[in-house]
Amino acid sequence: MPTPSLPAIDQLLLQRTPLVRRTIGLVAGFAAMLLALHVWNLWTSRQAVLNDTAVSTANMARALASHAERSIKIGDAVLGEMVERAEHGGDGAALLRIHERLQAITSATPELQELFIYGADGSRLATSLPSTLPGTNADREFFRYHQSHTERTTHVGKPIRSRSTGVLTIPLSRRVNRPDGSFGGVVMASLKLEFFGAFYDSFDVGRSGTILLAIDDGTLLYRRPFHASMVGTSIANGPVVQLYRKAGPVGTAMLVSNIDGIERLYSYRHLDGMPLLVAIARSQAEILDGWRGTVVNTSAAVLIAVSMLAWIGVRMVRQLRAREALSVELQRARAALQAHNLSLQALADSDGLTGLANRRCFESTLAREHERARRNGLPCALLLVDVDHFKKFNDRYGHVAGDDCLRRVAGAIAAGTRRPTDLAARYGGEEFAVILPDTNADGARAVAETIRAAVAALGIPHADHPAGHVTVSLGAHAARPALDGSAALDWVRAADALLYEAKATGRNRTVARPA
Ligand code: GH3
Ligand code: MG
Ligand code: MG
Repeated sequence: MPTPSLPAIDQLLLQRTPLVRRTIGLVAGFAAMLLALHVWNLWTSRQAVLNDTAVSTANMARALASHAERSIKIGDAVLGEMVERAEHGGDGAALLRIHERLQAITSATPELQELFIYGADGSRLATSLPSTLPGTNADREFFRYHQSHTERTTHVGKPIRSRSTGVLTIPLSRRVNRPDGSFGGVVMASLKLEFFGAFYDSFDVGRSGTILLAIDDGTLLYRRPFHASMVGTSIANGPVVQLYRKAGPVGTAMLVSNIDGIERLYSYRHLDGMPLLVAIARSQAEILDGWRGTVVNTSAAVLIAVSMLAWIGVRMVRQLRAREALSVELQRARAALQAHNLSLQALADSDGLTGLANRRCFESTLAREHERARRNGLPCALLLVDVDHFKKFNDRYGHVAGDDCLRRVAGAIAAGTRRPTDLAARYGGEEFAVILPDTNADGARAVAETIRAAVAALGIPHADHPAGHVTVSLGAHAARPALDGSAALDWVRAADALLYEAKATGRNRTVARPA
């Protein structure tokens, strides 16, 4: 793996690495899943509570309906007998017997308040009361109903307060016909409203629950909690009657009461063959009371779980960050160490005075390039460069000026080597060497001449030199070790011999072989 540079490492510290991002995503996803599961669980348990309650209120509605049906059937049976007696019983002693019979029936039937047989004019012909009351009942709603309706079935009338006892009752009545079929009177059995009340009070519908008994035109007969003033009022626009009209004889729904504004789960039922509706309801708030407790408890547990998860997530991310920071720190240290090593290497390979490669570096490079040229069959050239009359320069200008002169000459030599593979080195004293890989004799001569001209062009004054300025002499040897079998040291010897020849033939010149 390549070592990243220092600015890249700083960048690495700032960004959220994929591992940290993945960990955050994983923990957040898990927490979200936990919360979603919790919400779903609460929702389904809420639905289950409502469904269970709906089943139980529907069952209670069935019980209420069958109770009302039974009570009315008793009244119905009694009315049947009374019609029979009124139409075929006769007067006088017969009416006395009827009176005794009616008294016997009411005392044996707790649902019944009173029984009456009315004449066609509304006068009371017979009653279950100890004595017949004077006056007429022709003004009662049920009486007028039978006057104008010829059906012989039982009519459930609007609730009335008994004129004889002041008790609230539901009148059940039937028409009495004369032999010719004309209106001959009415028989009436009144059911005690409190009989229903006592039964309804035995149901547990909670503090805000309600129970209704109503005629299906909306006339309220009984409502729990009971207020006498509400008996006979209309709930035709209330939610239960409205739903009954829309949805049919049996139903269950969450409705808001018009009377007290409370939202309740209602189950209603229409009685079979009778114009009556019963309904029972429990308030939503009370139904969900226990469920709310579960919501609080389980939500607290889930909240604790999510908090712990978040805490673990934060710790994990912190540890990851710390580990990543440590790894970045390690990479930084390694990069610094490598840079340091490189500078140490450069220091070990360079010459202190001129900054060129030193003798050690020259020798290892020469061996490497010799081997490479031998393997590849390519040429390689070696230049040896020597400053002319340098002893005299030192003698005249001193060693400090001599050192400076060597630095400038080294600069000119380095400038003459163009390829990255070329190596200019200080060989020793005022002698330099240049290795030119992949270079033949012509190339070597050209580079040598460039260097020679560059040094001369520096124009460093040298009073004890015939040319008047500093010059160099060069021996340039090009070899093909793959062909001539020459060794690296042979190159140095050959270049040295050529340099000697340059010195001997007048200096400030290049002698190159092969020509
Ligand atoms: P030639 O033209 O034949 O090369 O004559 P020359 O005087 O240059 O050669 P010689 O070998 O006689 O003298 C080399 C001198 O270079 C001797 C020494 O004083 C000087 N020299 C060698 N190394 C250094 C150095 O590092 N600094 C300085 N200032 N002078 C050096
Ligand atoms: Mg020399
Ligand atoms: Mg010299």
